[in-house]
Amino acid sequence: MKRVIGLFLILLTSINAKNCPLPSQLSSIHSIEVTDINRYSDLKRNRYNLSSLCIKEVLLKEHIYNWRFLLVWNENTPKGAFWYLPHDNENSAFDSAIYSANKYGGGFLSVLANGSRYFKNQDPNRNFGVDRKTTRVCRGQKYKAPLYSNTIFKIIDYFKTPNMPYLALHSNANGHRDSGGGGGVSMLHCSNSTKCFKANDILRGNKRGLKDEDSLIYLASKKGVDYNKVKRFNNLGLNIKYELINPNRNDCSMSNFVVLNKNSTKYINIETQDGDSKTQKLMIDRVLRVYR
Ligand SMILES: [Zn+2]
Repeated sequence: MKRVIGLFLILLTSINAKNCPLPSQLSSIHSIEVTDINRYSDLKRNRYNLSSLCIKEVLLKEHIYNWRFLLVWNENTPKGAFWYLPHDNENSAFDSAIYSANKYGGGFLSVLANGSRYFKNQDPNRNFGVDRKTTRVCRGQKYKAPLYSNTIFKIIDYFKTPNMPYLALHSNANGHRDSGGGGGVSMLHCSNSTKCFKANDILRGNKRGLKDEDSLIYLASKKGVDYNKVKRFNNLGLNIKYELINPNRNDCSMSNFVVLNKNSTKYINIETQDGDSKTQKLMIDRVLRVYR
C-alpha cells in the first residue's frame, strides 16, 4: 500500500506545476497559479521535465490586448540564462527552453496565444516600443506598448545573471518559406542590414543539424559588425545573422529594443527549423559555454 501511495505522489508531482511564490522584487506583476498543466499543450508535452521548475501565468492588460505568458524558472537556481519566446506556435523552441531552464538555471517567459504566432493580429515580437514615435516607425506595431515592453524586461532583468546576454528562442519553417507572416529565416538570404557569417558550408533540406540553412544565431548592434564576436561563435560551429540596427529602420522586435532602448549589444536569438529541438539544444550548450 505504501508503495502505491508513493507512486501516486510521484505521478502527482510530475503532473502538477510547483506552486512557488513570485520573487518579491516582481510583486508588482500580476500573476496567477498554474494549477492544471493539462490546460497548456506546451507544458503537457513536457510534463516529465517540470519537477524542478516553478511555473506561473503572468497577465498584462494594455490597450486592446489581454496578454498572457507562461513564466518558468528553476526553483533551485532562479538566476541564470533567461529566454524570451514570443511565438506560441514554435513548439520546439519551448521544448528547448525547458531543457535550458533545467540545465542552466534561470528560465524563460513565453507568450500564450492559443498556439498561434500572432495575438489579436499583433506579432508579439513586433510590440517592443514605448512611445508613439517608435510606433510610427514600426509598421508591425499597432499601439505603443510601454507596459508590455517594460514588464517583459523587468522580468528578464530579474532572472538573468548580469553576465548573460538578452536571449530569445525561435523555430522557423524549412528554407526561406514564410512561416506565417514573420518571414522565413535562412542563412541563404542575407542583406546589407542583415549580414550572414557562415561557420561552414550551408546545407538545404530537412533538419541537417548545425549546417542546416535554418540553424543560426542572430546578433545585433548599431555600431557595425563586431568581428571578434563573429569569429568566436563561428569557431563554435554556429552560423550567424548579424542585424545592423538603425532607429529609422526600427521594427519593434526584441533585438531592436535591446540595442536601441537598453543600449546593449548583448543580444542572442537561437533559431532552428521547426521540430529540430535537438540541434537547438546543442546550440544552447555552445552559446552558454561562452557566458558561464
Ligand atoms: Zn519566432
